Amino acid sequence: MSKIQILTPTVANQIAAGEVVERPAAVAKELLENSLDAGAKRVIIDFSRGGKAYVIIEDDGMGMSPTDALLSLERHATSKIRLAADLDRIATFGFRGEALPSIASVSRFTLQTRSTDAASGTEIYINGGKVIHQRDHGMPVGTRIEVANLFHPVPARLKFLKSDETEAAHIVRLVRLYAVAHPEVGFLLKEDGREIFRSPGHVPLLERVRVIWGKQVAVEVSVMPLFEVKGMRITGLLGKPGVSRGTRQDLVTVVNGRPVDSRTMAFATTESYHTLIPKGRYPLAFIFLEINPAWVDVNVHPAKREVRFRDEASVRGFIIQSLLSVLRSKGGDGLPVETIIPTALAPTTTPTVNSSFNNPINSSAPSPVAVSTNSQSLKLGWKFLSRLREERAVFETPTGLAILDIGAAHQRILYEDILKQFSEQTPLSQPLLIPLNLELEPLPAAVLKEKNDLLTAAGFSFEEYGRNFWRINALPTWLNPDESLIFIRDLLAEMARREGDFGKPALAYDALARLAVIKARKKGDALSDHELLQLVHKLFQTSQPGVDPRGHKTYIEWTDADLTRRLS
Ligand code: ADP
Ligand code: MG
Repeated sequence: MSKIQILTPTVANQIAAGEVVERPAAVAKELLENSLDAGAKRVIIDFSRGGKAYVIIEDDGMGMSPTDALLSLERHATSKIRLAADLDRIATFGFRGEALPSIASVSRFTLQTRSTDAASGTEIYINGGKVIHQRDHGMPVGTRIEVANLFHPVPARLKFLKSDETEAAHIVRLVRLYAVAHPEVGFLLKEDGREIFRSPGHVPLLERVRVIWGKQVAVEVSVMPLFEVKGMRITGLLGKPGVSRGTRQDLVTVVNGRPVDSRTMAFATTESYHTLIPKGRYPLAFIFLEINPAWVDVNVHPAKREVRFRDEASVRGFIIQSLLSVLRSKGGDGLPVETIIPTALAPTTTPTVNSSFNNPINSSAPSPVAVSTNSQSLKLGWKFLSRLREERAVFETPTGLAILDIGAAHQRILYEDILKQFSEQTPLSQPLLIPLNLELEPLPAAVLKEKNDLLTAAGFSFEEYGRNFWRINALPTWLNPDESLIFIRDLLAEMARREGDFGKPALAYDALARLAVIKARKKGDALSDHELLQLVHKLFQTSQPGVDPRGHKTYIEWTDADLTRRLS
């Protein structure tokens, strides 16, 4: 017998499934795209246990005839292209004809469909890639697909799925993206039959974002007019100047109705905000680009959302030009400085938090180490000489002269203080008289749910009171309540991005402490000379007095020998 064997179609499909659908949200994506390709005006999606139990999608699109329905489950069966040359002008989402057979090979799959001209519908039931039956099925025109027990036939893949909450969050995020991208289609998303959101077709974009993305986001954006050049059009919603995010989570880019990841678009958008948001942060924006399909390459990876443009530079230029003209006309150049908050998200709820940013460390925070300043400072032998600008101070040391970066010193101290609280399991927590409300994106909400124990141990107290709605009842003492919403949003986004790091408590706490101190730039002029000495003293009680948690120097020192050499 020959060693080489042709794989059975089922096995080939199961292997392909690994590429096309790596998680339930990817199944939802393929099915959703098929519905949109079929011209649906209304789509209903329901899922259970993060899509592991089932994903059901129902549309009122053109449906399929019984023969086509069976064909659609064959590999490389597609109604969307015939020749490779067609790839240049794809206007549909799908074109590979791989999704349905792949999904059907790794699930219990039921397809019910009725085409516009048929008197009745058909039902095909497939289990683990084997057709169990096809029979007549009475139904309205359209298609309903149920994918149950995803990956049960391939336990190895099942293992890689995350918690139900996380998988659910990915599905919700995906459906939200498509719903925002398709204002002409009505969407209803349900979990276990209960509505998560409903967005009717034909409502203005801003209203859509309000029902899909939430009220808090809707007040942070304004509508952008339409810009057009040959072959390209752009419109969308732009975050108001000063509004920014720690990740690209709320920088939504849509190309020809397809939610995509595009470095070019994200970069151009971020560029356009230039000084309107702090360095290193991302704008909040929904950017809709329509472009001649021949100028986009969507054939990058079946499961990925990345797109490439044939002419990246002109897309980039067009976006920047359009956005700048909007942002400038909003008085971007003359923007009051206070609305740009260094290192922090712009306030999402109260526009009045700015005053507290000058003094980000909560004054009621416990001093890291109980010190008897005088005697020990003497031992250390640093003598305060003078202030140098606001952020620096000059000291005479037993061996020479030192310049201290006050902010960096603060960060080192605060960082170790927070870590110490964590390691001793004694985080100091301050109850809030008036609990704060927090509305979250599904993914951060899932992270919060999953890591709630860890955050509780760090001094937070969160209480869920509705899907994606949380109440904050207490905060760690090092966190100023005025900035806590911003901090928590950033933190959760960061935790979602670095899933792995936050798996181990030690690493999680380290990351948490680092985030906390980034915000702790204390203004030097708020400190008295005595307090400056105290600061130095505390600094030298930390494990690494020479650098702040980001590795920047806290001070530089010239020894007498250095000085002599330089002066000679
Ligand atoms: P592709 O989308 O790449 O063509 P799929 O495997 O996703 O491949 O789908 C195969 C074919 O099945 C599609 O080309 C389309 O003709 C048909 N089809 C799939 N889903 C639907 C639907 N919801 N409504 C109508 N036709 C559908
Ligand atoms: Mg498809």
